[in-house]
Parts: sequence; structure tokens; C-alpha cells
Amino acid sequence: MSDETRLIARRERLLGANMSLFYEHPAHIVRGEGVWLYDADGRKYLDCYNNVPHVGHCHPHVVEAICRQAGTLNTHTRYLHEGILDYVERLTATFDPSLDTAILTCTGSEANDVALRMAQAVTGKTGVIATDHTYHGNTTAVSQLSTRMPPVGGFGGHVRHVPAPDSYRPLGGEGGEAFAIAFAEKVEEAIASLQETPFGFSALIIDPFFANEGFPDLPSGFLDRAVSAVRKAGGLVIADEVQPGFGRTGEHMWGHQRAGIVPDIVTLGKPMGNGHPIGGVVAASDTLNAFRKAFRYFNTFGGNPVSCAAGMAVLDVLEKENLMQNARDVGAYALAGLRKLADKHDMIGNTRGAGLFFGAELVLDRETREPAPKLATRVINEMRERGVLMGKLGIHQCTTKIRPPMPFSRENADFMLSVLDDVLSGL
Ligand code: PMP
Repeated sequence: MSDETRLIARRERLLGANMSLFYEHPAHIVRGEGVWLYDADGRKYLDCYNNVPHVGHCHPHVVEAICRQAGTLNTHTRYLHEGILDYVERLTATFDPSLDTAILTCTGSEANDVALRMAQAVTGKTGVIATDHTYHGNTTAVSQLSTRMPPVGGFGGHVRHVPAPDSYRPLGGEGGEAFAIAFAEKVEEAIASLQETPFGFSALIIDPFFANEGFPDLPSGFLDRAVSAVRKAGGLVIADEVQPGFGRTGEHMWGHQRAGIVPDIVTLGKPMGNGHPIGGVVAASDTLNAFRKAFRYFNTFGGNPVSCAAGMAVLDVLEKENLMQNARDVGAYALAGLRKLADKHDMIGNTRGAGLFFGAELVLDRETREPAPKLATRVINEMRERGVLMGKLGIHQCTTKIRPPMPFSRENADFMLSVLDDVLSGL
């Protein structure tokens, strides 16, 4: 029995049959450094997928900060400690002045769960609107928002889904202003539908970059109408920044800033601690106080001194190494390279993205834009075999997901593009 077969069988026996794995031949990764991952046989892979090791795998500054704090004190959050205060102060300084307080959690799921309850506390209502093809996490409440994994017993009557924006196949068939109006109309319909139920309307939750939905190419201002409709109905806007946050899109620290909106609540996760589990909810003090009054919230691990040290160290590196600017420069360079590949390979129907979050939508036919999810699966498996790790996502699961650690260089982009060129040529 091969090492791979034995490990898969052991994993299934111990962790259950539904623990998902990437790739036909799952990679057995044992070490990471910067943008590189190494498997058990010492083979090196270029990491074009992972946003959790935001400032690079095992960045020494983050590792040192975690070790130092773990060797000094780690405890729950019912004592006075400057770590959480210094971190929240520095973090909230990157937001609109209205968003000046935060609750720290351990995961993005928890953060979204708290955000939904904040909106309930403020509005006294529970109805929530999300986009289809999204994912906001795995608690009982937020798993109700993910259409990809419909909950046992179906969606609650308090949930409405609106079509995720798709810039390649826009709602109503037309892009630009008409597309933004069509999206806002869907939100208005969902609000009206909730208002007819005992749940009422509480919040619209969106990833402002619509990452899981396939990061459509949307102009700043696209969401304005939808946001106005929410506010007019007395609801709150929750921006899930788990994917586009911390400068990934290059131009802005946060995806909602790129989209040109100011949400009422912002949720954070994945890259926040470079792999150390920390998430957060940022909101105006009135919103947070309404929540604290309604829910008497306590989180044993959220905001502990080690997590805050990790979060602080991530912000240090982002700043010191100019990583947001790197995301802007290298992202634009890599996307231009991907566009050149589209001139050569007909199966690339569309290329898009921002900063270090971009990809190519693969199609069977450019005219009909028929999605090619099987081809996308083949591409990412072939890439893995050749030492480049990436994923796929989107409404039709046919868009490559290229979202590497932020120190990704032009040289790394060249390598990724040349391997992709080879793989596409060989199909
Ligand atoms: N929101 C979004 C947009 C996500 O992509 C994810 C995770 N993929 C989550 C929330 C959940 O975060 P976590 O896995 O840390 O609970």
C-alpha cells in the first residue's frame, strides 16, 4: 500500500469520510516557508492558493511574536491586558472612523455568527439576505447562508438568497448600470419578502469582493443601490472580509473600501493571524453595545494574548514589507500575463481579479460561454503534479483561484504562468 493510500485510509477512519482533500493525489505537506511548501519527500511547491499564511508561511516575525507571548502569558479575556487593546486600536484605525470597536473570535464562522446576532440586537429582526454560491462558515446559523451545502431540513424561513453578481454573465444580460440595478432589485424583492414574514428584515451579508462566488469584475459603486435599499428598510450591511481583507486586493486594506461602501459590521478571519486562529467583528460602538446588552457574550479564546500578538505581528509585516503595494504590483503583472495566455488558449473565456486574488474562467466555447468545471479540475490537478498549487471556485466551479501569500513575486508569477501555459497546451 502506498504512503498516500495508507494516510487517506487512516484519515478517513479517524476523521470521518467527509473531510475534504484537494487534488486527485492529495499533497502531503510537512513544511512551509514564504511562498513555498514542501512535501514529505522534500518536493517543493509554489503556493498560489493559501491566503491564511498571509505574510508568508512561517514568517519569522510572526513565529517569534507567538513564541514570545506563549512563553509569557496566555489566558482568557477576563483580565486586564494591553495586548487586545493595542491590537484593536491599531486594527480599527484602518477602517472608516464609524467602525471603531471590535470583538475578537477564533474563526470567521464565529465572527459571522456574532455579526448576525449584532444585526438582530440592533433591528429586533432576524431575516437575513445572502448571495447564492456563497460561503460564510459552519455554525448552525451561518451554514444557513451557504447554498453549496444546503442545511438538513432546508433553509429557515428567515433566509433569502439573491443571485451572486456574475460579471461574465450579468443578470439581465447587460453589464454596467443595468447590472447594478438588476442586483439591487433582487435585494429589494428579498427585503419585501422578509417583511411579509414574522422574521422581518435584519441584514444583508456579503463578501464585497464576492470571492467564493468567483470574484466578478464590478465597478466601484456597483453596490450603492443595494446598500441604500438595505438602509431604507432599516437593515444593516455586514461585509465579510475573510477573503479580501488585509490588503489582498492591492488598492485597499478592505474589500468594502474597494467597493466604495461603508458597512455597519465587518467580519474578519483567515489571514488575520497568519495561520494562528483569530477572527474578529468590527462595528460602531452603538452596534457593539446593543449586542453586548442583548447577548451577554463571552469567548474563552477569542482575543487571548497570543492571538493578539500574532495579529499585531501580521500588521507589522504588512507595513514593513509593503505587502499591499506588492499585491497591487505583482497582481497587475500576473493578471496581464494571464490575459496573454487567453490570447493563446481558447478555453480561457475570461480573466479577472484584483491584487493577489485573480484567475481565469475556463469555458468549453467562448461564444456560448459554456462553463468547463471538469477542465478546471484537470488543470488544477496537472498544476499540482508540476509543483504549483492553486484551486478553483465560482458559480460554475470553473474559475481558477489564484490567491497566494502576499510576498508572491514577479518571478513566482512567471513560473506559475509558464507552468499554466504548458498545462493548457497539453489538454
Ligand atoms: N467567510 C468566508 C467568505 C469564507 O470564505 C470562510 C472560509 N472559507 C468563512 C467565512 C469561514 O471562516 P472559518 O473557516 O475561519 O470559520
